Amino acid sequence: MKKSSLCIHGGSIREPSTRGINSPIYTSTAYEYLDREDLPYPRYFNTPNQSAVIQKLALLEGTEDGLLFSSGMAAISTVLFSLLRSGDHVVLQDELYGGTFNLVMKEFKRQGIDFTLVSAQADTILAAVTDDTRCVYLESPTNPLLTAVDLKRITLTTGPRGIITVVDSTFASPINQNPAESGVDITIHSGTKYLAGHSDLCCGAALASAELILQIRNTARNYGGSLNATDCYLLERSLKTLHLRVTRQSENALALAKFLQAHEQVSQVYYPGLESHPTHLIAKSQMSGFGAMLSFELHPERIDATNFIRRLELITPALSLGGVESTICSPAVTSHRNLSDDERAQMRVTDRLLRFSVGIEDVDDLKQDICQAFGT
Ligand SMILES: *Cc1c(COP(=O)(O)O)cnc(C)c1O
Repeated sequence: MKKSSLCIHGGSIREPSTRGINSPIYTSTAYEYLDREDLPYPRYFNTPNQSAVIQKLALLEGTEDGLLFSSGMAAISTVLFSLLRSGDHVVLQDELYGGTFNLVMKEFKRQGIDFTLVSAQADTILAAVTDDTRCVYLESPTNPLLTAVDLKRITLTTGPRGIITVVDSTFASPINQNPAESGVDITIHSGTKYLAGHSDLCCGAALASAELILQIRNTARNYGGSLNATDCYLLERSLKTLHLRVTRQSENALALAKFLQAHEQVSQVYYPGLESHPTHLIAKSQMSGFGAMLSFELHPERIDATNFIRRLELITPALSLGGVESTICSPAVTSHRNLSDDERAQMRVTDRLLRFSVGIEDVDDLKQDICQAFGT
């Protein structure tokens, strides 16, 4: 089946007594144990509703198995701590989601895990690999500049050396990118974003081979960050429209990226689907669509970022991303607020940079909102 059909039919449970067409919500936390071995328990990550969603996601990502978590950070921390022990070395890119950056800075140090942060390019990432490197951790495309990292080039080196490559693919969603196809071992999603898609659900997922998932599951039972049945059901419901939503959002984003690039009040647009984006060719080679996140920089003399955001009527200033509604934020005062001016400058996060999560609204309404906020 194609992805649009898998979104609807993959993994769903047809309950035999009623033959209702939606998966029932199995709220039980206790299951009869007589004559069975695969006893479900929510924190064992094996209840019917957890398994239904995981089957759908594994089919969409093209992996054997997966695990569902109560947040994206639960997925990231559990995956990393299931792989790593004191003395191991990890290479990470420096353009990292803020929560992941904090995890590395605070918890890795405490656990004696050694790490190197390098710029998000295959060459520099591979150059940082040592004999002690156990894991390479990436995000593609990155936040907020949408840099695509050449996944295949990295796994061609890490794979044969037995180094596990992990990719946070949240910004792409399984519709636009399947890292497993590029040899990536573990794909992670903050399900709070595109998978859930309605800004009302917090969850995460990790997708990988059956062997790796077994290893992660054993650690996950100890950390305990599983997802409850009702939220699994809501996520399954959301995933039915994932293909529709993300396709529409990506189309809108490409149109808006072109529109902004041509606008006199905008000095720079970062969208991997634009030929002007520094990693456009990498994105084109490993993504089937370019996603619905874009960033743009306002012209220094013509308009103030705060005024611009205040004047928007339809596009809402909000944190988080990936919902059906368009939202916008200034990374300098939100996700990157705790960095020094120098660090922000090095990461090209200026006060004039805005990150735009494009929704499924009519693209003309979005353009019009931008125009009226620009006063043009
Ligand atoms: C939001 C996000 C996370 C963290 O997910 P939570 O569900 O908030 O825990 C991780 N990575 C990326 C790229 C994100 O956007």
